Amino acid sequence: MKYIDEFRDGELAQSIARAIKAEADPASTYHIMEFCGGHTHAISRYGLEDLLPANVRMIHGPGCPVCVLPIGRIDAAIWLARQPGVILCTYGDMLRVPGSKRLSLLKAKAEGADVRMVYSTMDAIKLAQSNPDRQVVFFAIGFETTTPPTAVAIKQAQALELKNFSVFCNHVLTPSAITQILDSPEVRELGTVKLDAFIGPAHVSTIIGSRPYEYFAEEYQRPVVIAGFEPLDVMQAVRMLVRQINEGRFEVENEFARAVTRDGNEKAKSLVADMFELRRVFEWRGLGMVPYSALRLKEPYAAWDAERRWDVPQDNPGDNKACECGAILRGVKKPIDCKLFGTICTPENPMGSCMVSAEGACAAHWTYGRFRDLEKSE
Ligand code: SF4
Repeated sequence: MKYIDEFRDGELAQSIARAIKAEADPASTYHIMEFCGGHTHAISRYGLEDLLPANVRMIHGPGCPVCVLPIGRIDAAIWLARQPGVILCTYGDMLRVPGSKRLSLLKAKAEGADVRMVYSTMDAIKLAQSNPDRQVVFFAIGFETTTPPTAVAIKQAQALELKNFSVFCNHVLTPSAITQILDSPEVRELGTVKLDAFIGPAHVSTIIGSRPYEYFAEEYQRPVVIAGFEPLDVMQAVRMLVRQINEGRFEVENEFARAVTRDGNEKAKSLVADMFELRRVFEWRGLGMVPYSALRLKEPYAAWDAERRWDVPQDNPGDNKACECGAILRGVKKPIDCKLFGTICTPENPMGSCMVSAEGACAAHWTYGRFRDLEKSE
């Protein structure tokens, strides 16, 4: 298949659904976590759960980079934006994520902070070039996919000798988060979250390849299928996982071979390895403190590290008590389990991070899935 439409062919999706139904053992239940927010979005948008038999259950994982940043890091970005002479810039969705005290970067902007949305790290560099008397801080977030562009921006700042550019680094690592989920009490001891297999991330894997997931398949005996974001990709991945579970295999298979190799993008990986080092521990919303799960700039690049340039607050006031984002990101609850869903919390007025980005489980369910709930209740 060459064109996107072919990956959205309804009849083909129906035929894969029939194959899954035929292969799924009616005496078993299959619990499949899609780690990535892009998959969560595709599953909701195309109603894929309706095509699957009742004993094949999808569990939303924590793979939305906007959703997983804890409130403390949002507060720290707001604090940075309020420092005299600072222009804080970041990607669009981050502006609306609520911090503590009902603040967000957008509200801080309304109150006078200079907060700007950028489409790329190069926009941030241009901002620094055109504002030599100001300090431009790039609020960097995201998984392995967005780290190389941040690294390129720092290289560029170094080449241009830009002294007024720095990065507030919040880049996080997918494999560490999967380990944390598999080691969580809900999965290991309590058995309240059943996880039989993973759909592995698409974009992240274009950078790191499929090799890092081999550890989960071997050590935790969980099959992984790396899949693209189109509906047929996801359906095909589910079929491959059902087949592996039936056959008692625990392997990493690559459905997204058109973009992902076993070793990934060596150039991007070496650029990141040259510039970043692991943090000993980093807090994720929902997953708590996760060892070696995030990156910071290495010493030779300290001049571009906002956390070294400013005494950035490190507190975390904790989530809004009524918000269930944390449990949703661990796969323990679904959006409709949250009392605020669709009443106080909507994409226009998000109370928690999962309602902000289109890849967040609550936003995806609000936009596409709630109509299914209505049909079921009628
Ligand atoms: S509905 Fe809103 S408040 Fe509830 S879990 Fe989702 S984002 Fe958090």
